[in-house]
Amino acid sequence: MGEDEPGQAAAVAQGIHVIALPTPFLVGRVNLYLIDDEPLTLVDTGPNSGKSLDELEQGLAAHGRTIEQLGLIIVTHQHIDHVGLLEIVARRSGAEVAALGGLAPYLRHFSANAAADDAFSMQIMLRHGVPPDLAGALGAVGAAFRAFGSSGEVTLPLADGETITLRDRSLRVAHRPGHSPSDTVFFDERRGTLLAGDHLLARISSNPLLSRPLEAAARVPGKADAGHPGGADAGDPGGADAGDPGGADRPRALQTYIASLRATREMAGVALVLGGHGPPVLDHVALIDERFRMHDRRARKLAGMLEAGPATAYELATRMWGNVAVTQAFLTISEVLGHMDLLIADGRADEVDDGEVIRFSLR
Ligand SMILES: [Zn+2]
Repeated sequence: MGEDEPGQAAAVAQGIHVIALPTPFLVGRVNLYLIDDEPLTLVDTGPNSGKSLDELEQGLAAHGRTIEQLGLIIVTHQHIDHVGLLEIVARRSGAEVAALGGLAPYLRHFSANAAADDAFSMQIMLRHGVPPDLAGALGAVGAAFRAFGSSGEVTLPLADGETITLRDRSLRVAHRPGHSPSDTVFFDERRGTLLAGDHLLARISSNPLLSRPLEAAARVPGKADAGHPGGADAGDPGGADAGDPGGADRPRALQTYIASLRATREMAGVALVLGGHGPPVLDHVALIDERFRMHDRRARKLAGMLEAGPATAYELATRMWGNVAVTQAFLTISEVLGHMDLLIADGRADEVDDGEVIRFSLR
């Protein structure tokens, strides 16, 4: 987000400063927000890299601040470009860590959950037609990227609808799953400012990535939580991903995301949306309507491709995006599956499972 982006001055006038840190991902830089309030608050932490930590320290210094002065860290969602430095920044500052309560087990047992995420995406790719050698290669790349994440301890578990109160502002917490299961937005109703994470971004549509449900994070095998005997971490030797996560039991990420966008669209008094990537959004209703039109167009285009006969999600992704479907197979399959779920819900497509690979056909 550039210094002179529209909306930037309004944010600064409210004591909110963007610090954009580099990431190793295609999305480019990630926006952190420093809220000059009491306690001094940082929204998201950036990926776990020396370069990002260095730029975070420089960004804070530009406002006369240090990591040690932070009193509160707010987490918008579970993706590693947003939470990777959480462990380091929380330890050095001693700040409270506020995040959706359901995200706490995931962050506490980050590496076990990251490994389970990798296994989950592998199952999805194989069930939806990605050649096994390609899936294996992509899995290795994904596992390497996990080093940009880290675990973290949530000290202020949040629930949908509650309010975080700082000296000069109140932030209402709203759960908006879809891009990830843990997407959470924070609304300063008095100023009309929405801290939105990756739920709504000005220049790119948020990917409805297929993810293990948050409840699965509480059941990562071998990670019994001594602090909660008999609690959610107990048992489940069958593993975190029982059922058929690629097929009948897969999460409907795009449908969830569209429902979340509808809820945000209905929010009254939103004047400024500060997202996790790119510039601020000034007209959230117009942007959400544009996103709805895009998803409609994409569903229609994919339905048109099925006129040639049944196809796997991977085949559809390669027809739609060419080589990007090879290098970004999981992401593009998530997109296709989301739109297939819309077509199925509309009664326009069917899902045929031969026990190995799932294909879609027009009804
Ligand atoms: Zn994200």
